[in-house]
Amino acid sequence: MDRTRRLRSSEALRSMVRENHVRVEELIYPVFVIEGENIVNPVASMPEINQYSPDRVMEEVDRVIEAGIKAVLLFGIPAYKDEAGSGAYAENGIVPKAIRLIKAKYPELIIIADVCLCEYTSHGHCGLVQDGIILNDETLPLLAKASVTYTKAGADVIAPSDMMDKRVLAIRKALDSAGFVNIPIMSYSAKFASGYYGPFRDAAHSAPGFGDRKTYQMDPANGREALREVEEDIKEGADLIIAKPALGYMDVIKEISLNYNIPIVAYNVSGEYAMVKAAALNGWIDEKKIVMENMVGLKRAGAKMIITYHALDVARWIHEDMGRICR
Ligand SMILES: [Zn+2]
Repeated sequence: MDRTRRLRSSEALRSMVRENHVRVEELIYPVFVIEGENIVNPVASMPEINQYSPDRVMEEVDRVIEAGIKAVLLFGIPAYKDEAGSGAYAENGIVPKAIRLIKAKYPELIIIADVCLCEYTSHGHCGLVQDGIILNDETLPLLAKASVTYTKAGADVIAPSDMMDKRVLAIRKALDSAGFVNIPIMSYSAKFASGYYGPFRDAAHSAPGFGDRKTYQMDPANGREALREVEEDIKEGADLIIAKPALGYMDVIKEISLNYNIPIVAYNVSGEYAMVKAAALNGWIDEKKIVMENMVGLKRAGAKMIITYHALDVARWIHEDMGRICR
């Protein structure tokens, strides 16, 4: 008689038949760098997450290295903003500055540079704006320029998050002609216009000054359209695909994984983090259990890597559990 409980009778047996695992090597930790000096600015809606000025950012990067995490995703908050987001592609901008600093101490750490204009534009949109319209093709050379600038500073991976059409192709061409044929593009392909980004906008000072992002980010109701976005980005030269948000969109991750042979990165976003943290701080949930369940759920859905603000905790928990097993 078939009894599925037989293989659940002990932890040893359960661990032998376990289908999915979360590995420290698959975690990507977001880091916010802000122009200025001696700044460690807590993000109110994201407990334990801070903005760091370049002279203090190594405190955070040291923790990343100690945790055994292999990659960080860098976001910059500039001193000034303008219509054209020029801080995004300035050679001495906040992101290139931080990349050079981090690379000088930890050359082996993978630095993924987020590429977008919204942290740098006075209107807070991800593209150039004319008469209230977000321009697509006019934005592409600026994204390409930022990508080359970050790569020259030492970035290992370029991650465009703007959702303009044809940006992957524009960035690929620019990187290739600058001699960076081996720099991968991690494209935010399936990025939905989500309420879950609220806390991030506090962290990155990137809330749009007018309107919303629905003319470029995807409608949360559309799963099939996400596949079209992914297909387009792969054709244009994307090496890795980001799906964002993660938890409410596991079906999208699963569909991408079933349809395309490319590594998928799930972005466990700020709102998802904030909800778990708030409940944990109130003592309403067991934080470790909930976070690890969310992480392995994303692996089960088909994600290869996970960008998460929980990464330092997750890495510590994995090491603690490994230590217990090895003893
Ligand atoms: Zn943006």
